[in-house]
Amino acid sequence: MCFLYMADSEDAGKWRDCLFALAPELEFRQWPDVGNPADVQYLLAWEPLIDLADRFCNLRIIYSAGAGVDQFDLGRLPKQVSLVRLVDSAMADIMAEYVMFAVLALHRDILVYQQDQLAGRWQPRPIVRASKRRIGVMGIGNLGSAALVRLQPFGFQLSGWNRSLKEVPGGCCYVGQDELEAFLGECDILVNMLPLTPETNGILNATTLGFLPLGAGLVNVGRGAHVVERDLLAALASGQVSGAVLDVLAQEPPEQASPLWDHPRVLLTPHIASDVQVEGGAAVIVENLRREREGVSLLNVVDRFKGY
Ligand code: NDP
Repeated sequence: MCFLYMADSEDAGKWRDCLFALAPELEFRQWPDVGNPADVQYLLAWEPLIDLADRFCNLRIIYSAGAGVDQFDLGRLPKQVSLVRLVDSAMADIMAEYVMFAVLALHRDILVYQQDQLAGRWQPRPIVRASKRRIGVMGIGNLGSAALVRLQPFGFQLSGWNRSLKEVPGGCCYVGQDELEAFLGECDILVNMLPLTPETNGILNATTLGFLPLGAGLVNVGRGAHVVERDLLAALASGQVSGAVLDVLAQEPPEQASPLWDHPRVLLTPHIASDVQVEGGAAVIVENLRREREGVSLLNVVDRFKGY
């Protein structure tokens, strides 16, 4: 059994050690030392090579080195090859930490106080109780669910929006396009945790940002292309959106001339909200080896039709 590592070479040693500890029978090879390509059954890659099927004729599973799979052209993947995401509870915990930080920063007006500090202003603002603040999460998947569970103890009013009905702790789940406007109307702080698909590309635009209550906050940890940046800038300028915490951008990093760099109501972080964790990722790979052996369905397989 042969596993080919085609991701960040700095992490290769960690993946090798972790996989060896859990599944010593799995031979680890690192790109470009492929050996006989016909040996390769499993592949970990950020982006697949275009001629994947021809090159690795016995390939069974591609593991995405990224947390999403929007960098893959799903239509070009060979049908017999499964694409699998390496999500685990550690990745969800790390993301939940970031979401807590971002929501609390907006809830407690930290972006405003940061500007006040820079301007030498000492100006307290009224405190809003968490029980009066409505937080909405778009995308109640592995990561969105974990974030909602962590938000609940603060006492916020929670809601979620999802393709299918999901549980929202202490709150309501809005479903599908028909309920998007109603959902957004209830979000004092909106947290986007959707995957990027043709359906969700540009989902936060002038129209949908306009459905938010006046002065709402935005946290984007999904993908940059979910937000139409010029529409967000217009919404910030008009006060429709009062502040945004953005971990992902359409272009990363943004060009030097981007107004996002020094926007007083925007906090940028360089796509660090969460990431694939080696230990958890290796555990998924090894669990899938067992499932393959026993003919059980694999963990975390991407649905090519849905695109996530
Ligand atoms: P999941 O696949 O577990 O969850 C996605 C959720 O979004 C599902 O609940 C799904 O609904 C819902 N959804 C998808 N499309 C739509 C739609 N058109 N309308 C409504 N709901 C929809 O993904 P994860 O939670 O693990 O990750 C989400 C995304 O977070 C990733 O795709 C990635 O882009 C991003 N991410 C960002 C990171 C960062 O560092 N900033 C790190 C990790 C991930 P249903 O349940 O009905 O299928």
